[in-house]
Amino acid sequence: TIVPIRRALLSVSDKGGLVDLARALADRGVSLLASGGTRSALLDAGLPAEEVSDYTGSPEILGGRVKTLHPRVHAGILARRDVPEDLEVLEAQGITPIDLVVVNLYPFEQTVARPGVTPAEAIEKIDVGGPTLIRAAAKNHAHLTVLTDPGQYPEFLRHLDRHDGGTSLEFRRGKALEAFRKTGDYDRAIASYLLGPGLDPESAGQASEFPAELTLGFELRTTLRYGENPHQRAAFYDEPGSVGPDLGTATIRHGKELSYNNILDLDSALRLIRNFGGPAACVLKHNNPCGAAIGATLAEAFERAYDGDPVSAFGGIVGLNRPVDLATAERMTTPGRFIECVIAPGFEADAFEALTTRPTWKNSVRLIDLGTPIGPETSRASGLDLRRVEGGLLVQDWDAMQADPLVEGRVVTTRPPNEREAADLAFSWKVCQSVKSNAIVLAAEGQLVGVGAGQMSRLDSVELATRKAGPRAAGAVLASDAFFPFRDGPDAAAAAGITAIIQPGGSRRDEEVIAACDAHGIAMIFTGRRHFRH
Ligand code: 5GP
Repeated sequence: TIVPIRRALLSVSDKGGLVDLARALADRGVSLLASGGTRSALLDAGLPAEEVSDYTGSPEILGGRVKTLHPRVHAGILARRDVPEDLEVLEAQGITPIDLVVVNLYPFEQTVARPGVTPAEAIEKIDVGGPTLIRAAAKNHAHLTVLTDPGQYPEFLRHLDRHDGGTSLEFRRGKALEAFRKTGDYDRAIASYLLGPGLDPESAGQASEFPAELTLGFELRTTLRYGENPHQRAAFYDEPGSVGPDLGTATIRHGKELSYNNILDLDSALRLIRNFGGPAACVLKHNNPCGAAIGATLAEAFERAYDGDPVSAFGGIVGLNRPVDLATAERMTTPGRFIECVIAPGFEADAFEALTTRPTWKNSVRLIDLGTPIGPETSRASGLDLRRVEGGLLVQDWDAMQADPLVEGRVVTTRPPNEREAADLAFSWKVCQSVKSNAIVLAAEGQLVGVGAGQMSRLDSVELATRKAGPRAAGAVLASDAFFPFRDGPDAAAAAGITAIIQPGGSRRDEEVIAACDAHGIAMIFTGRRHFRH
């Protein structure tokens, strides 16, 4: 199985180690064939080599796009040396068999990593002839050797020394394996470039500058009865200069003081409903929405939000993005319902009256008035998002929602979402931002129908959400706060009847996940923005 090396084809982009390798080959009497630039480098070092275009009789054309793509080259690589007809063809056409192919590819990844690279430059760096040479040689590794990286040259030369100037089948097989891995990685890099910017932190736009020292200046507003648990002391501090709408500027119009946990829930409710322009409502439990909906009226939005999961909604925190009117108050006070807090940009007099006199829980409900409109166009939290860890303070930008995730995102599946799905995808994505990770949100007709929150596996979140949704999962859409690392999530979603997915993208296995969605007929959008919430 030792194959002697008599003729080598060299076509390398990275010319490192080339001259040493070629000299060692020439010293062993190997004849050299090389593409234009590679041949020049060899000639400069005083090494004679035949130029591919002279050998084929076909000049390099199309600005280098076609250099080695020629039957005289590829037949010399692909001919089976143990098939008489193959050898006869080579003989008849004067084609010399090639025993060694040394190729490394145009540096595609390095090129697209360069800031400001144009699509045209990137496309030109897609090597076509190189992978073709590599794959041909790797396919025919029973008879020839392929080298794809300068790092392999020294090992290769040592191997020749030990094998009388030839290579063993085991060696050729090993190099063929490396070759296919390389061309596979190369194509994957091209595909991920074409997919568009993912979650590469380099491209995410780093927050510019942070002060060397943080002076907070928050002012004590009130002490709280206790913290998350009764043995923890707690207080609420106002952010100086905040104009709201937020928990700092809101006023309690009715009910006893807010608890630490109420404030956390109210804040999440606020962040959720402010993503919507039209009437929207949500119901929060333990800092996650169990219901959320949009509607033609606020009353309808509330009804559909409560209906998303009426069992969980009992005792929930309700967020509304319109002043509460009587129709909405009537829905809230329907017998059998119990609401702990309502936060809204105002309460109409008759609605306030109804909420504070009718239900059995009238004395325990807290009504919080934002005093100012809320929506995507209203001012958002100023400054930075701060979070304590033991021994330090974590500081980050607030997690902002894209103005239009569907316009800023891109369809990655064969099938684009239809109009109804598109509307539900936008809705579910805006809800998903407020769900604890791993977050999965199912929605249909502008209504949350299932949530999987705070799970350690994304698949568990999908399964929880589809279980919650039950029959309502069929025909619903799905939002995922971060990419699917495997196709199992989309597979489970498809089995439950989900027809469209929105997620940031950016997984190593995106291609696999897209292929799975295509196979299921699912339409999918990549937003390019992740919304982890921990
Ligand atoms: P050279 O510097 O020798 O002119 O070109 C070497 C590079 O061209 C290598 O990276 C090789 O992969 C690539 N290459 C070889 N043949 C072809 C071809 O036919 N078309 C294209 N686009 N690239 C080729």
